[in-house]
Formats: sequence, C-alpha cells, structure tokens
Amino acid sequence: MDAVAAAQVLSEIGYLLRQDPEQKFRAQAFSGAAWTIAISRPDLEALYRANALTTIEGVGAGIAKVVAGLIETGQSTYLQRLRTEMDQPTRDDESDLDLSQYQGDVHSHTNWSDGKATMLDMARGAQALGYRYLGVTDHSPRIKVVNGLGAERLLAQSREMAEVQAQMDDLTLLQGIEVDILEDGALDLPDPVLELLDVVIASPHVKLRQEPAAMTERMLRAVSNPHVDVIGHPTGRRPGSREGATYDFEAVFKEAARHKVALEIDCDPARMDLSPEMARLALESGCSFTLDADAHAPAELAYVPMAAWMARRAGIPQDRILNFLDPDELTAALR
Ligand SMILES: [Zn+2]
Ligand SMILES: [Zn+2]
Repeated sequence: MDAVAAAQVLSEIGYLLRQDPEQKFRAQAFSGAAWTIAISRPDLEALYRANALTTIEGVGAGIAKVVAGLIETGQSTYLQRLRTEMDQPTRDDESDLDLSQYQGDVHSHTNWSDGKATMLDMARGAQALGYRYLGVTDHSPRIKVVNGLGAERLLAQSREMAEVQAQMDDLTLLQGIEVDILEDGALDLPDPVLELLDVVIASPHVKLRQEPAAMTERMLRAVSNPHVDVIGHPTGRRPGSREGATYDFEAVFKEAARHKVALEIDCDPARMDLSPEMARLALESGCSFTLDADAHAPAELAYVPMAAWMARRAGIPQDRILNFLDPDELTAALR
C-alpha cells in the first residue's frame, strides 16, 4: 500500500462522510489526512511496523486504524461499508487508470490572477512531480476580484512564459485561459484571443442558479465554441456547501462529445466536480475527460493523485483522459 493509494482511500472516505452534515468534522479529518499523505508521501509500511502511524500530521487513532487495515488487507472495510450504506456503486474494475503514466495537468493558476505562486514556482512544482506539461490557465477579466487577464496581459504573460520555459528541461508549458462562461453562454474573451492560446478551459463561475432551460442553453453555447477545449468544473458545485448548476446534463454532455470538448474532473477537494455519478453519465455520453488539480500553489498539484479515485469509480478508461497523452498527442488533441 503506497502513500498515494492510501491518500485516495482517505479522500474517498472524507468525500462520502461529507454528504452527511453531522459528519462534517470527521470528513474534514479524513480529507486533511489524505492531503498530508498525498503531499509528504510517508513510508506507511515502515510507520505501521513501528506502530507510529499517528506521528503523521492529522492522523489520529481512528484514521491510523483505517490505514493499518489498508496495509494488512489492501482494502478498507470502513470504505466498503460507507459505499454500501450510501448506495455508491463502484466501477473500479472497468477502469485501467495507472497514475504512474500520468503526464500533467492542463488547468492551473499563477499570481497573474488568483494563484499564490509565480509561474516559475508552479512549473518547478510540476517538474518535480515528473510532469511533462502544465497548462497555465489564469482567469479571464470578468471576475474583478481575481485580477483576470485580457489580451494585453496575456501577451505580457506569454513573454514571461518564454523565460520560464527556457529554464525547464522536460516540462512543456501551455499557455491558456480559464475563461468565464457568461450568462448567455458567450465567453469572456473574444474568439481571436482564444484562438492564439494552447488550451482554453471554459468554466461556469457565477449565476449558477439560473433556471435549468437557460442554463442548458448557456452550456450548449459554450461547448459549441470552436476554441473551447475543456469545460472546467462543469457544475460549479462545492460538496457540503453549494449545490451545482442544474441543466440537461445528457444533452450538454452529448454536444460536448460531438464537439470533442473534454469535461473536467476537478480534483480540488472543495469542488470534486464532476462527481463520479455525473462523470459516468458523461462517459456514457461519449465524452473525454481531463483530471486537474486546478492548483493555485505548487503543493495543490497533489490533488490529482489524491482524487483520481473519482475517475476510477466512474469506470473511465485511461484512453478517455487527456492527461495520459504525451505532449505531442495532447497538442494534437487540443488543436
Ligand atoms: Zn474555476
Ligand atoms: Zn481554475
């Protein structure tokens, strides 16, 4: 049982517990422990043998017991019980996802918008994980609080990107944008700007409570834009605090598949969007996917290894996930 596999189990337990408001703190404890283990990658077997699992930050006796069970049996009876109790089907056996072949994220932020780190630090973080590419996709102008980028700042950013790129060995930086899907489905930047970028993630951030028919039209228009590559966190939900948008998911997913627009499984624990259930629907609708940390700091790149279980539980095969393509294949897929 390696640390990443254990982090995924703890992450899923935290996610399931979060559906029950009374378990909020327990849920946070499991998610927090998953996070610590995903980042620090401790030698769990050695700690287990030394009876020292609780020396890991955030791991109390209860969580240590779950981890010990994982080491002894390779699985968690607690997770199995939660899945059964919450009627959560598992389709892990339909997925061949192997994280050791993961090539990189396409959605991340820097201090050009609301990220907390420089592009250089983000690139170094991705390189340290052995990633072969990183999509730098800061926000578009509409949401003022995040200091979004218009055409002029994107041009300035491309100069910085060339400098950072020159310092990287095997990592390719992709210049992109996380462009807001406006209320009517138009995008927050004009087509000639989007056309110049390597990767365009279109995301719904505001007015998520639009009535379903209008929301459906909005999303259909967004996936039909020829420059859009990915729909970021497609429902905008925040498990435990905010319901996502409601629209005709099947119609939108089918249209996304027709336009070869991928749907994101945003692994940020605050989002986990698409959920495994929705990702399953998207899979059956013919969609491709991206897994992304939506990282705002280098440490947050650990979200993907922590939450890859979502894709596995939806039964998504690796060849339907863009992050497993090599850099040339990815570039071709994003064209
Ligand atoms: Zn976003
Ligand atoms: Zn983002």
